[in-house]
Amino acid sequence: MSDCLFCKIVSGDIPSQKVYEDETVLAFRDINPQAPVHILVIPKTHIDSAAAITAQNSGVVAHCFEVIAQLGKDLAGGFRVVSNCGPDAGQTVPHLHFHILGGRPLAMEMA
Ligand code: 5GP
Ligand code: ZN
Repeated sequence: MSDCLFCKIVSGDIPSQKVYEDETVLAFRDINPQAPVHILVIPKTHIDSAAAITAQNSGVVAHCFEVIAQLGKDLAGGFRVVSNCGPDAGQTVPHLHFHILGGRPLAMEMA
């Protein structure tokens, strides 16, 4: 999608601090970190949100979680994975992304 912020990060039109990249998945640092470690993991193909995951595109979503497991293993104290879906959940970028949050004890409240 030409007007999608994260598609532009995938294409390199918008720079990012990449921490992992392969053929189908990209991980980069959040521009406004909410924790000492705040990484976004995204499929390179455009998927609107978690509500748009289907049997046809879930392979790349599974791969996102393989990448999350690899990136998270360095976070000895644990980490949280969050995907905001839709306006009430605070999704601001309509390209599926998984936040990895860690590097300190996190608040117990999830909502
Ligand atoms: P959401 O609110 O949709 O769950 O998460 C979107 C995230 O993208 C936010 O945490 C926000 O800080 C991050 N973000 C927005 N614009 C950019 C950008 O241009 N570069 C990077 N690296 N992160 C961004
Ligand atoms: Zn996109």
